[in-house]
Amino acid sequence: MTVLPLVERLVGNSDLRGEPGVCYMLRAGQTSVLFDCGLARGRGPTVLEANAAALDVSAAEVSAVVISHLHPDHVGGIRAQLRNSFAVPDALRLPYAVPAFVPVDMTHSTADVTVVSAPQVVAAGVAVLPPLNRMLFWLGRVAERALVVNVRGFGLVLVSGCGHPRIEGTMAACEQALDLPIQAVVGGLHLPVHPLGTRCYPRRCSAVRTGLGSRSAKPTPAPPSR
Ligand SMILES: [Zn+2]
Repeated sequence: MTVLPLVERLVGNSDLRGEPGVCYMLRAGQTSVLFDCGLARGRGPTVLEANAAALDVSAAEVSAVVISHLHPDHVGGIRAQLRNSFAVPDALRLPYAVPAFVPVDMTHSTADVTVVSAPQVVAAGVAVLPPLNRMLFWLGRVAERALVVNVRGFGLVLVSGCGHPRIEGTMAACEQALDLPIQAVVGGLHLPVHPLGTRCYPRRCSAVRTGLGSRSAKPTPAPPSR
């Protein structure tokens, strides 16, 4: 399994642009999943479009789109959010009628959208968890869910978009749904963060304790809007 960040706030390469949003290309076996769509802030080519071009990535290979939650930094901008939709730049050539799994009632002009309210397999070895609700002080209620990949010989890798429901709750929901240990967590954790990373001490985190020992999780540094 590989996780290629197409949109993240921080970039380690001057050929890439950063923005406070998330879009990952997940590849596992024959499956490619586009997880979230970034923020698409500003004019001209979006960060997603520019980074995909710089990395020579297109969405033509994508077998499913998964949206973690309906916030602008994850659905491709405020306009997409206001339409209850998500936006992938045309230049990425998202396949027509590609399955898209979303956490709340959303539409899309070309994708085949399914609202997922229970754990669901979206591709071989890849599942989405049910949305978890969280009331945010400045943004109101949000329903967010994570994606999980079962990596042969390793175990579950949990991919978090923003982490609004708190990673402890998301991990608990994952273990409840799949009854398998989580071996790694990737993505936004919405913790107080430090550029060097923040250690993760979830209350219910037996898989991390036994599986990764003292290894720390490195959440994505995020502004308050994420
Ligand atoms: Zn958010």
